[in-house]
Amino acid sequence: DSSSGSSGFFSKRTFPGRVPAGIGRKSLRIVVTGGAGFVGCHLVDKLISRGDEVIVIDNFFTGRKENLVHLFGNPRFELIRHDVVEPILLEVDQIYHLACPASPVHYKYNPTNVMGTLNMLGLAKRVGARFLLTSTSEVYGDPLEHPQKETYWGNVNPIGERSCYDEGKRTAETLTMDYHRGADVEVRIARIFNTYGPRMCLDDGRVVSNFVAQVIRNQPMTVYGDGKQARSFQYVSDLVDGLVALMEGEHVGPFNLGNPGEFTMLELAEVVKETIDSSATIEFKPNTADDPHKRKPDISKAKELLNWEPRISLREGLPLMVNDFRNRILNGDEGKGL
Ligand code: NAD
Ligand code: UDP
Ligand code: UDP
Repeated sequence: DSSSGSSGFFSKRTFPGRVPAGIGRKSLRIVVTGGAGFVGCHLVDKLISRGDEVIVIDNFFTGRKENLVHLFGNPRFELIRHDVVEPILLEVDQIYHLACPASPVHYKYNPTNVMGTLNMLGLAKRVGARFLLTSTSEVYGDPLEHPQKETYWGNVNPIGERSCYDEGKRTAETLTMDYHRGADVEVRIARIFNTYGPRMCLDDGRVVSNFVAQVIRNQPMTVYGDGKQARSFQYVSDLVDGLVALMEGEHVGPFNLGNPGEFTMLELAEVVKETIDSSATIEFKPNTADDPHKRKPDISKAKELLNWEPRISLREGLPLMVNDFRNRILNGDEGKGL
């Protein structure tokens, strides 16, 4: 548990039916929107295992019940099928707001970033809960500064194909700060860089899941463009530790949460090949519009103020997702949403 132990300020409200979390710490009631998704389900596991009550709100747009099925029957766990674009009334201490169609294949279809964030901020305001937004490194767009610090304002195309995601998250950050300044809501903002791990959606088109699934299926890895564009890849447990440290800490942020280790897509393909199958091949495909050339977090702020840094390198983390992917592919459980 990376919490600072400073949960005293949650004592403003008490809710009936609370169960003790352990010696010296009252259990919290926590909402995780998007909790049936990739990052959300790992976060929920951590919160449940430290003794808190968790309510997941998810419309299963890209998330899956399978990600949470091991918690069904746990009295401290509830799952609500609900679209956060619609208002909802709950009594809670903390809100981790993850709900978002997070991949280019999905995110065009949904106003979640604006309406969903507004509703969750309205909820936080009404019940005095602390609200954490999972924003993204995409707010930096195709960055002209490298690596990116939180002070960088970004280079985003407002009218491009990716804009509803980038600009949606930028708007979500704006709403979050407006509720903080205007309505005194306690808020936290994380800017998450590319993250991978077990239970990741198999078919949402992100590069690590694509390469790993392709090699397991004996297909060539699809490298977009010349493959020289670079990203930094973070293992999911490092991210979850960072999110909890941010929520429990004293600082609003925004904070970059990512692993500064940088890889081109060709280098990533090489690591996947070494990890899974030395005979794996690659195939070049045209790149998508407005693809950022490179992205790498400067995490000095999170190191200093949250005492957090990632611990798992790409070479250590990749093998940890391969078994999960292999099982799901072999069982025909392709992980589609809905
Ligand atoms: P995911 O697609 O696996 O999870 C998103 C979840 O939100 C899904 O369970 C989906 O069903 C749910 N959802 C979507 N729209 C909803 C709505 N309107 N109402 C209720 N639920 C809804 O994605 P993820 O990788 O787990 O991402 C979680 C959060 O982290 C997102 O906010 C994403 O923008 C952010 N993020 C992730 C990464 C990454 O690399 N995984 C990077 C940057 C930011
Ligand atoms: N909201 C919600 N649950 C709550 C409180 C508010 O879903 O417990 C929604 C509410 O329906 C509104 C949004 O959050 O659409 C913003 O609420 P706020 O009170 O800030 O704005 P107002 O309703 O005053 O415009
Ligand atoms: N990419 C790739 N092959 C794929 C999927 C993605 O080469 O099968 C590239 C994509 O062009 C981008 C990088 O991988 O340069 C990361 O893409 P992803 O969608 O995973 O995350 P992004 O950083 O764009 O949010």
